[in-house]
Amino acid sequence: MSVGKRRIAHGPRLTGPNPERPEVLIRLTYASRSKGMLGAVDVKDIIRISQRNNAALGVTGALLLVNGVFLQCLEGSSAAVNTLYHRIALDPRHHQTSILAFAEIDRRCFGGWSMGLVPALGENLDLLKAYSPGPDFDPFAMRPSALDTLFSELVSRARVLSD
Ligand code: FAD
Repeated sequence: MSVGKRRIAHGPRLTGPNPERPEVLIRLTYASRSKGMLGAVDVKDIIRISQRNNAALGVTGALLLVNGVFLQCLEGSSAAVNTLYHRIALDPRHHQTSILAFAEIDRRCFGGWSMGLVPALGENLDLLKAYSPGPDFDPFAMRPSALDTLFSELVSRARVLSD
């Protein structure tokens, strides 16, 4: 019996992992506006559910809420990130969701964090404002490259609370 390379009998697989074509990693960053007055407890609730769900999906990322504006970064397979983003966009706790950046990445920025919380306080707040084009934190006006650098800086200085 010959032991050679396994052949694909019926053409390429259209679903499921393909060992010959490793999964493409994607980073999606979006901003939205909270509906009503959401506070720290509401954000912690979102983080708790996110950590549970994202771990199962292989998605990592970080979330912050500043003056009624959410900014979230999601990393993972293209399929997982897309599906999750569309579910999140339907959530009645926020609206005006806008994708600010969507790109292929070589490696994750948030490593083992299924969803990190960025507390919008003190030094973090100063950093967020410093990266914003205007006097207030306004991620909607930020360039994709600035968003990437901002998140890397938050992570490198351990300003994200891990799960
Ligand atoms: P459950 O958490 O059990 O919720 C069931 C349903 O109730 C859902 O339709 C949910 O939208 C709704 N719901 C729950 N709590 C409230 C509430 N307080 N007010 C109104 N409706 C509510 N989910 C993730 O899995 N990963 C993420 O990274 C993530 N990020 C989020 C970021 C933001 C800014 C927001 C607003 C939500 C985010 N969510 C995230 C939550 C997401 O929108 C869904 O609510 C969640 O994924 C549903 O999880 P579940 O199926 O386990 O249902």
